[in-house]
Amino acid sequence: MTREPIHLSTDVLVVGAGGAGMYAAISAARNGADVILADKSLVGRGGATIMAQMTVAAAVGHQAPDHWTHHYADTIAAGRGLCNEPLAAILCEEAVARIHEMDGWKVGWARENGHMKQVAAPGHSVPRCVYVDFLNTGPAVAKCLRTQVAQGANIARISGLSITDLVLDGGRVIGAVGFNLEDGAPVTIAAGAVVLAAGGLTGIYRRNSASANMGGDSYALALRAGAALIDMEFVQFFPIGHLAPRLVGMDPIMWDPFRYKLGGRLLNGKHEEFIHNYGGTDSGKYTAMRDVTSYAIVKEDEAGRASPHGGAWLSFQHVPEKELRAAFGPVIDRLLKNGIDLTRQPVEVSPIAHYHMGGVRVDAQMFSGVPGLYAAGEAVGGANGANRLSGNAIPETFVFGERAGRYAAETVRVGRPAWNPQRAARALDEIRRRSGAGATKPAQRGPEYHGLAKQLRALMWDKVGLIRTGAGLTDALQSIRAMQAALNDETSAGEEAFNLSLQDWFDLRASLTTAEAVTLSALQRTESRGAHWRDDVPRNDPAQEHNQAVALKDGALSLSRLPVVRTEVARQEAHAAQ
Ligand SMILES: Cc1cc2nc3c(=O)[nH]c(=O)nc-3n(C[C@H](O)[C@H](O)[C@H](O)COP(=O)(O)OP(=O)(O)OC[C@H]3O[C@@H](n4cnc5c(N)ncnc54)[C@H](O)[C@@H]3O)c2cc1C
Repeated sequence: MTREPIHLSTDVLVVGAGGAGMYAAISAARNGADVILADKSLVGRGGATIMAQMTVAAAVGHQAPDHWTHHYADTIAAGRGLCNEPLAAILCEEAVARIHEMDGWKVGWARENGHMKQVAAPGHSVPRCVYVDFLNTGPAVAKCLRTQVAQGANIARISGLSITDLVLDGGRVIGAVGFNLEDGAPVTIAAGAVVLAAGGLTGIYRRNSASANMGGDSYALALRAGAALIDMEFVQFFPIGHLAPRLVGMDPIMWDPFRYKLGGRLLNGKHEEFIHNYGGTDSGKYTAMRDVTSYAIVKEDEAGRASPHGGAWLSFQHVPEKELRAAFGPVIDRLLKNGIDLTRQPVEVSPIAHYHMGGVRVDAQMFSGVPGLYAAGEAVGGANGANRLSGNAIPETFVFGERAGRYAAETVRVGRPAWNPQRAARALDEIRRRSGAGATKPAQRGPEYHGLAKQLRALMWDKVGLIRTGAGLTDALQSIRAMQAALNDETSAGEEAFNLSLQDWFDLRASLTTAEAVTLSALQRTESRGAHWRDDVPRNDPAQEHNQAVALKDGALSLSRLPVVRTEVARQEAHAAQ
């Protein structure tokens, strides 16, 4: 029997409830819109935001004199020529107001003698990153936003709702389709505007710092709705992800705060410093940017100078125990329980997929170009160009979330489109078909998904990872397309409650679309720049200082070149401020 969808209606639908989605919901609501905030995980507890460790970059100038134009200049320099300059300027300027706003919401930014404490991070010209607590800033930020969301009378929160498609009528977004994970019920939502805030893509890589729900849904949803993506080749690898010895119950990227505070030494397998051989400046304190460090670690491995498990050594042995304890007290004990005594031994680290610089192409209003569709957070591309500074991602969720919510609410004030159920029929059919409800033969569980997902992660790591070649990318593209065909032939289990294989099917569909967009863009960029390194063209090509857009045309992904969006005024101010 065909199951009728549950139908809901709202002014603004926000897809994804991490930092960007929650800020967008708060902002849309305070601008007069009714909001549904939907997440396939628990609202405010899934995705990357709650995992963030420490750094939130904003030129509040409490630790040292600063101005947003300095932050902007650093962001542009890190972006290797490809930042969308107006977006970067908005990020840096408005981050200050958002940090103060969250201070008023009692997020608890760490303070000393009344001023907000700020730490230095690579690429930032002054100590600029505010934080709540080492290793605990993300949970504090998520909690603060959850409280604000809960206080918004016109925000309905829905956990466990996976959005599978946006619905368009006459080229305008009019809502979305998804299913309720708990009971498998299909759901339609009529909305005057949709904010896509479903996070990044690093879950498509074998070695990643991601949570379960970071498989590229934002990008796949945007593409299928007709929006363009930008800079998809620029996946950021966090250089010092934990590698060995085994670490239980602690985050693999926890070493960053350690080195900000204590200055770690990064050494190759021969216990020599090496970053200076790759254009970084280190002088006993590892301060190089992420793209340079990741590349250097992999190249030392290729040259036979890796640490025993194929990474590099990170040492804090030069730091007296008293200082270690003063900085990280209980964390030092947790490390000891894992058998790691930092006063006696270095740890092994190596790159790990961590963040995506690319994403939905938007203007300053976070508008995607498809009427009714906005994006925010890691879903958005462009502000960070080819390489992101540490600490820029969390403020990006606040600043772009606030804007997306505000402009989405403004659109709705002009008028809401009528809901047209026929336009949702195809997406609903897909859910029924994949859940076995529409199958003509008994539904089969799809054990292949896990195999395919694993295969995809291995493929992306090996061929579309940190070091790429034209031949490898071409192979990867073929394999991804073969996997798409294989996935299409799969049906999932029947309509039982908590049908995880239905979720897996849609997750993998999104991941494959996203993987294809990354691979195609990487293949087309025949140079090395920022986080995109081509071993067959190991140099920067000034003629390729352009962005690449990818969009779906007649069912196939197609690429185009775009000039980098520059902002003369912001550039001059940044220059003058230097
Ligand atoms: C371990 C880790 C540490 C980090 N540390 C820092 C740091 O110190 N400083 C910094 O600036 N940045 C840091 N980052 C990066 C930063 O945390 C992220 O870029 C940022 O939090 C992204 O926020 P977001 O709201 O865009 O997405 P997320 O917080 O990832 O939220 C996206 C939400 O969308 C939901 N979702 C996904 N698909 C769907 C769908 N189809 N339907 C419904 N819901 C969906 C997910 O469940 C999730 O809750 C870190 C990232 C990680 C992984």
